[in-house]
Amino acid sequence: MMYNEEFETLPREALKALQVKRLQRVLQRVYHSVGFYKKSMDAAKILPDDFRSLDDLKKLPFITRQDLRNNYPFGLFAVPMSNIVRLHASSGTSGRSSVFSYTRRDLETWTELTARSLIAAGLTKNDIVHNAFSYGLLPGGLGVHYGAEKIGASVIPMSDGNTKRQITLLQDFGPTVLCSTPSYALHLAEEGVAMGVDMKSLQLRVGIFGAELWSEKTRDAIENAFGIKAFNIFGLSEMLGPGLASECLEGRHGMHIFEDHFLVETVNPLTGEVLPEGEEGELVFTSLTKEAFPLVRYRSGDISRLIPEPCRCGRTHIRMERVLKRSDDMLTIRGINIFPSQVEAILKEIQGVEPDYQLIIDKVGALDAVELHVEVGDKFFSETGGVKELQIIEKRIVKDMKDYLSISPRVKLVAPQTLKEKGSKVIDNRVI
Ligand code: ZN
Repeated sequence: MMYNEEFETLPREALKALQVKRLQRVLQRVYHSVGFYKKSMDAAKILPDDFRSLDDLKKLPFITRQDLRNNYPFGLFAVPMSNIVRLHASSGTSGRSSVFSYTRRDLETWTELTARSLIAAGLTKNDIVHNAFSYGLLPGGLGVHYGAEKIGASVIPMSDGNTKRQITLLQDFGPTVLCSTPSYALHLAEEGVAMGVDMKSLQLRVGIFGAELWSEKTRDAIENAFGIKAFNIFGLSEMLGPGLASECLEGRHGMHIFEDHFLVETVNPLTGEVLPEGEEGELVFTSLTKEAFPLVRYRSGDISRLIPEPCRCGRTHIRMERVLKRSDDMLTIRGINIFPSQVEAILKEIQGVEPDYQLIIDKVGALDAVELHVEVGDKFFSETGGVKELQIIEKRIVKDMKDYLSISPRVKLVAPQTLKEKGSKVIDNRVI
């Protein structure tokens, strides 16, 4: 089954011609409406009219996450706010977060793409979807929500958290589909078992998981814990949200990238040189239909490999392998993307805190647990009354990490110079 068979099975030649036509239109629009693109294309001495074939793509400059932050909050929007009907944003303080906008048509496109993704995993209007992706500023929850409604399934807008309640509803409402991050799914399974629930006897038959790096081993663990078939969905908030690519019923052979809406390239993460299809590298995406927030050659930081061979399902769109590593220092903690520079920026604002810190990430059960060691001034350890001040600093760090980054680290304050010898600022002990 397909949601949009005509476009999902378009012959490659026709698909490429469509991409050229759509990209020409995007380039005209961004060049004339977004200062950043005019500047970067002028600097690269390429005008929208110079773009004639997909080979010309490599002449266009990249756009990076740093460019998004430099233009915080609305500097890259290509339409006036009156045409924008939705805003989403990544976590972080001002200038260290990115804002994503959608016109009404962008929301319709996004809805279609998540609908395509869900149908590719075999969902129908008879399914009941327990959606435990986070609803809010991050686009995960709402993206899947509208796609599931579009195909006529019944949606439970559960969001993340409230684990015991989730397990009760999994029993009482009998959902047939679970959508969440893979680690939260495993957490649900563990908690369910602890509550004495046989998680295999639930009505669940399919799971859609994403927003984290996860391995085939984790897929096996989830499938065994629930007795379901687990599918991988891929998205980037910068491009739309979930629904950029998804697996089909052919299973573990990569995710189809919806190429009528996105153009994908693989580049060498160090040099930016375009690599032949099928070689491992950093994925670079260009939006072909986005109105409010089109991105041309966006460096995703995700390392993967494209699979050019045709798929047995009949879709002609190229597939990508699951992402298992990054080209930069981005961390995903409980489905939320975080950069060490964001942690640093928050600590800098807190009085008494010294520049050195160490972030230690582990798995406790199925979930990510974060410990944050921070150096504070010598005086707190010598003066009388220092203990109280230390508690105030610790509370402030915990609160700011929660408020800006949505993580709840266990904070440990240490004397100056203690972290220096320890080297790395981030220690990630998780095995994916
Ligand atoms: Zn397929």
